[in-house]
Amino acid sequence: MKDDCIFCKLANGVFDTNTYYEDENFRVIFDVNPATKGHVLVLPKEHYANVYEMPDELIAKAYQVAKQVAEELKDITGCEGISILQNNGEAAGQTVFHFHIHVIPRYGEGEVLQWKPGEINQADVDEIIKAKQ
Ligand code: 5GP
Ligand code: ZN
Repeated sequence: MKDDCIFCKLANGVFDTNTYYEDENFRVIFDVNPATKGHVLVLPKEHYANVYEMPDELIAKAYQVAKQVAEELKDITGCEGISILQNNGEAAGQTVFHFHIHVIPRYGEGEVLQWKPGEINQADVDEIIKAKQ
């Protein structure tokens, strides 16, 4: 646990919170400022700031939990769709620097995450593919 991390405290039950699900490695809590009804966060109990720090096996488990919760919320809420998303870094919109996956039921309310669709730029694609080799 990281002393100054709010999600460490919530994930490990140091602070009370609305818990949807809990197991040995994770706690799934309701987001305090939900995008929609049923918006929850999958938190590992151990502190990892972002996806790069998380061990691969734990990432796999986190997404299994997210999938299970999404399936259940679909039945419980009767939502039309579910967005599963995860931010890494301030520029990506991360505000709490303890890894978490958002599971957001969608009811046709419009975009909760909006970007302006651009035009594909072949030079950008080529540059990335070349740098990868
Ligand atoms: P991020 O922007 O880092 O991807 O998401 C952080 C999320 O955590 C936000 O949706 C925010 O509403 C939620 N959040 C921040 N502080 C708390 C808290 O103390 N309790 C709960 N349940 N959610 C929180
Ligand atoms: Zn933490």
